[in-house]
Amino acid sequence: MKVAVFSTKSYDREFLDTANAKHGHELVYFEPHLKEETSLLASGFEAVCAFVNDRIDAPTVDKLADGGVRLIALRSAGFNHVDLAAAKKRNVIVVRVPAYSPYAVAEHTVGLILSLNRKIHRSYNRVREGNFSIEGLLGFDMHGRTVGIVGTGKIGALVANILNGFGCQLLAYDVFSNPDCAALGIKYVSLPQLLAASDIITLHCPLMPETHHIINEETLGQMKTGVMLINTSRGALIDTKAAIAALKSGKIGYLGLDVYEQEQDLFFDNLSEKVIQDDVFERLLTFPNVLITGHQAFFTKNALSSIAETTLTNISDFEQGLSLKNAVSVELLKS
Ligand code: NAD
Repeated sequence: MKVAVFSTKSYDREFLDTANAKHGHELVYFEPHLKEETSLLASGFEAVCAFVNDRIDAPTVDKLADGGVRLIALRSAGFNHVDLAAAKKRNVIVVRVPAYSPYAVAEHTVGLILSLNRKIHRSYNRVREGNFSIEGLLGFDMHGRTVGIVGTGKIGALVANILNGFGCQLLAYDVFSNPDCAALGIKYVSLPQLLAASDIITLHCPLMPETHHIINEETLGQMKTGVMLINTSRGALIDTKAAIAALKSGKIGYLGLDVYEQEQDLFFDNLSEKVIQDDVFERLLTFPNVLITGHQAFFTKNALSSIAETTLTNISDFEQGLSLKNAVSVELLKS
């Protein structure tokens, strides 16, 4: 099948080309994000392949469908960037990669927690400059600390498992309880209870209307002073301006982010020669207790190879008229 692959980097090509040896699709790579303005590039293609910062809203879906696209194959688990109702209206099928390596994201999450706690990012810079002072690098034992996990699906459950090994006390909030977490002895509590009792709060729920800005001025107010907040899920779970106010007041003691609500204008590109126009993001970078990575939690060899294989299998299944176990639809969202 002829597939227009958007937002491609060298690593996407490498892993997709390797996996495509057995699928034989005609993959045409485009560097730009998929959005209304670039959707004409896909004219004459039956499928597009998109990533997390592509904006597949209703006008984009319309233009894709007008140009002959019948399948949107996401190289991601999250699908909050696709207007599923518009896709349904135009008979365009959407498939995704529901799980590739939850270990990658869980391990990166714990990496952020440890780096922030022990200030490894700061000591790295100091030592390179011949500054061996440890003033200001004081951390705390993870053992015995209370960690609140919001969303105990595949990734949240793995984070729980790792932190259980550290001897943390674990609390969880989810709309469903996960038997694997319950077996670890994790206590499910209400969100206000989790916020009030946790020294570290880590977000692993999907971005949906119900979870948009789940961390806001009010919920930040319910947290312990000096709390560590981690988000490797989706940027808009946090109201960034409220988080900045909480950093200034000392309510947030540590903030670790792999995602940011306006990241589509920043992440995955080298902007080091440009003036960043996003003042909110730039303010975040001024805090010594904020550690940001540019949406790289998923970025392991294992994950990229699994994403490529599942994406191409999704496309092959569609081409052969097989049932699409990784399809996402408005109906699925409601179930
Ligand atoms: P999952 O579907 O296995 O788990 C999500 C969990 O969130 C489920 O247990 C679900 O019940 C729960 N949930 C749903 N609504 C909720 C609510 N209102 N409040 C609390 N919990 C709620 O998903 P996953 O594979 O564990 O991924 C979690 C998120 O991580 C994804 O949605 C995605 O946005 C993000 N992610 C980020 C990266 C990255 O590179 N940073 C990579 C992959 C996934």
